[in-house]
Amino acid sequence: MTSVREIKGIGEKTQKLLLKLHIESVEDLVHHYPRCYTTYPDPVLVSEVRTGVRCSICCQVASPPVLRAVRRLKLITCLAADQSGQIFLRWFNMPYLKNTLKQGERFIFTGTPVFKDGRIMLEQPEINSPEKYEKLTETFQPVYPLTAGLSNKTLQKAIAAAFDLYYAREFLPEQIRDYYDLWDENRALKEVHFPSGTDNLMEAKKRIIFDEFFRFFSALELVKERENQALNHYVIEMDESISSFLDSLPYELTGAQKRTLKDIRNDLSGTMAMNRLVQGDVGSGKTVVAMAAMLAAVKAGYQAALMAPTEVLARQHYETFTAMLGKEGVRVGLLTGSGKASEKKEIRKKLETGELDLIVGTHALIQENVTYKNLALVVTDEQHRFGVKQRDALFNKGREPHVLIMSATPIPRTLGIILYRDLDVSIMDEMPASRLPIKNCVVKQSARMTAWNFIKKEVEAGHQAFVICPMIEENETMDVENVTQYTGMLARNLPPEISVESLNGRMSADQKNDIMDRFAAGEIKVLVSTTVVEVGIDVPNATVMLIENAERFGLAQLHQLRGRVGRGKAQSYCIFISGSDQEEALERLSVVGRSNDGFYIAGEDLKLRGPGEFFGTKQSGTMNFALGDIYSNADILKAASEAVDHLRGTGFNFLEVGQYSLDESLNFARNL
Ligand code: ADP
Ligand code: MG
Repeated sequence: MTSVREIKGIGEKTQKLLLKLHIESVEDLVHHYPRCYTTYPDPVLVSEVRTGVRCSICCQVASPPVLRAVRRLKLITCLAADQSGQIFLRWFNMPYLKNTLKQGERFIFTGTPVFKDGRIMLEQPEINSPEKYEKLTETFQPVYPLTAGLSNKTLQKAIAAAFDLYYAREFLPEQIRDYYDLWDENRALKEVHFPSGTDNLMEAKKRIIFDEFFRFFSALELVKERENQALNHYVIEMDESISSFLDSLPYELTGAQKRTLKDIRNDLSGTMAMNRLVQGDVGSGKTVVAMAAMLAAVKAGYQAALMAPTEVLARQHYETFTAMLGKEGVRVGLLTGSGKASEKKEIRKKLETGELDLIVGTHALIQENVTYKNLALVVTDEQHRFGVKQRDALFNKGREPHVLIMSATPIPRTLGIILYRDLDVSIMDEMPASRLPIKNCVVKQSARMTAWNFIKKEVEAGHQAFVICPMIEENETMDVENVTQYTGMLARNLPPEISVESLNGRMSADQKNDIMDRFAAGEIKVLVSTTVVEVGIDVPNATVMLIENAERFGLAQLHQLRGRVGRGKAQSYCIFISGSDQEEALERLSVVGRSNDGFYIAGEDLKLRGPGEFFGTKQSGTMNFALGDIYSNADILKAASEAVDHLRGTGFNFLEVGQYSLDESLNFARNL
């Protein structure tokens, strides 16, 4: 790795700023891609100029430029005019412009007009000759993710200089490059930073995105090689051991649950260790399936572990498991990061001696100081929150246990097949029949009072409600609803006997647990929260989900949030309040408004974003690729997957595929 300090013009100060963007080396720098691109717009008439809208005007200099000193600033002003009118132009600390801006000469001025001193003016506009501008309109200007103190220009210069010190070694075989018509990586990188036109930029992005996906699949290839060798060290027969448990359930399993259980049964008694993903929409009943598998493991004399991404969720599972499996004689424990050291030590001891059969917890389950007597099955709930290192830690506790991964991330089926190629997949695409579909509505902020009244009515009918605000405290934009303030406001608008409390990610685990416990017990009626309740929480008595600033969330996330209601027998409701009146925002929200099907929503999300996103900002929060988007670049995803298939068994070394370590690539893989 070559340090950025090797680049001419980068000193200690810039180095520090770059570090804030996680850029340390020349390699990092050339892989710091533009967030999006701006284009030079076609010039408009002065009479058409509007404040706040970036534009270009083609004008003659109508008055000789005047240079003045205002405090410490050197201010230069002049008038510019076209056939439709005149406009004021102003620059700071560029006194040399006095000679450039000759009266009567024609320039294109580009900038964002502001309203100051009673008139519209352009401050600091860019100046170009008409000939030069003509060329510029054909180009894209990269806009980089920045940090305070670092300008786009500085970064651009640094990247240009970095290319003198960087050369990417080609890792793709020529036949693959030819077949998929892929550019050379070096050329692609340069084009992405310094685009020469739409078509070329498309080609360049294609190569870089292909590489990202290819590396991802190469990493999966390595996992597969390794995990394929895992033999079944814990043969578990599932049928009899769990039949009484299944019979005791207050409901009949859905067809999808039965099919999934059958898949698991075959795995557990097969020759290879299980490595299965259960993909089922929120509320499809994944927990009971996992529970049955874990019970079978315990009845066969082994231990089983369930890892949850948050402490709140772990506790919830612990309570469910204790209530449902205690009577089967299963000894259930809970291990999370919080709690007394002495208690945790006690639990760890019991895991080692085998006094506990089943353990529920967070990543505390896989810390070095935890030893299991005979762990045969590991279930991870909402695994996309777990890194691969954490997962691997479990393998090292002994011989590889069976692994069951439960996920509610709605990835369209065609993509799922490609992305989860290292796992066997069971899809639970059926909701329990007893469930009433959630009723949805998308409204503007003006309907908030009506929504609050609705909550009041539901609570008075004995139910509970969730309210989700996107962020805590006014650390970002002013219009973001503030959980704490919001809670106060809502409480004042509801009768005093209705208890309203708030939950946020900055609270201590104990505080969160306490609030969740009281909400689950029905003591708290309305819970205002950030997205910490997003995964897994099951409070069947909650019938209303109100989401503020819904336009700020991804559709998939909204769907997850909504999944917190509609879990009991009563009719549930989800109200999406849009903080924006824009048609686009409302249209996007209408997708979750009209459907409760996660797969449909994921598909519509894809259509809405479409290939237009190719040049824009990547929106999706669930994918960790720098440029690639598994939805809008689905074709490239498929190509990269095929390429890996093609190279398998040819002696191609998947380990030497690029700048990412195996661990990093795997984290990509697991974060989907
Ligand atoms: P998820 O798949 O989102 O994890 P859960 O496992 O938490 O869903 O199940 C949601 C709710 O549905 C729970 O209250 C559970 O008891 C209930 N449930 C699960 N399976 C069935 C079924 N076959 N019929 C009726 N209710 C069910
Ligand atoms: Mg769940």
